[in-house]
Amino acid sequence: MNTPASTTVPAQGAGAALPPDYHLHTPLCGHADGDPAAYRVAAARLGLEEICFCDHMPSDGSYDVRHRMGLGQYQAYRAMIVELKDGRAPEVLFGLEADYYPGCEEFVRRLLGQYPFDLVLGSVHVLDDWVFDNPAERKRWDTADVTAVWRRYFDNILRLARSGLYDVVAHIDLPKKFGHRIGDRGLREIAAPALDAVAAAGMGVEINTSGLRRPVGEIYPSLPVLQLMHERGIPICFGSDAHRPEEVAENFPTALALARQAGYTERMRFRDRKKRMEPLPS
Ligand code: ZN
Ligand code: FE
Ligand code: FE
Ligand code: ZN
Repeated sequence: MNTPASTTVPAQGAGAALPPDYHLHTPLCGHADGDPAAYRVAAARLGLEEICFCDHMPSDGSYDVRHRMGLGQYQAYRAMIVELKDGRAPEVLFGLEADYYPGCEEFVRRLLGQYPFDLVLGSVHVLDDWVFDNPAERKRWDTADVTAVWRRYFDNILRLARSGLYDVVAHIDLPKKFGHRIGDRGLREIAAPALDAVAAAGMGVEINTSGLRRPVGEIYPSLPVLQLMHERGIPICFGSDAHRPEEVAENFPTALALARQAGYTERMRFRDRKKRMEPLPS
């Protein structure tokens, strides 16, 4: 076994056994409620050591402009989060949930170059003109070839990894959100090349509990995917994808149990887009 408990911060309060929450949104995205300060109060109550805001990046205008901050609000986003960096616990990190789609690279590179981020999550929410996880566009699933969607999705995750632009893949099996699953065997075969690319890029993957709030009723990723990740040495962190303060660190004990079940004993900690490993809370 690795990492003696003496290297960890001493446990304090009821929630000391919870890892940091690295995926929080803000009202700037237009579909979240509560000031960042309220998310932080919620995190403090749970005894979290640190949190990271990763709101949806602005669009280049080609997709989903309505569910994210405008380019003109990007600076306000930065200012809003930096204001919370006051040296008190829980520490507040500045991150971004950045989309990937083929051709986005120059735009994303420019956005990421503007500010010093602590963590950049990479997400695939859009396939061509379809925001496949948007409830308003859910009908398109009815006529979709589900396996083909999963293949295209993971092909984009592979490209996301090869772009070298992101630190951590968010909700890596997102196509299951509304319950459009494929069998575990097919899933493993489709996901493996993308996971190889994630490992080769030295990236991590988040364990995202928001799937438990969705029709699928399951954490992202499922255990079979998590096991493939563990085999490849892909490190993890934890995110609630909270869009309201009550959702901060929601279901983290379940997520921790799932991580341990897949064989994980450590998680990532981020600062200035550099990671180091820390033991999972005992
Ligand atoms: Zn959102
Ligand atoms: Fe997302
Ligand atoms: Fe999110
Ligand atoms: Zn998300």
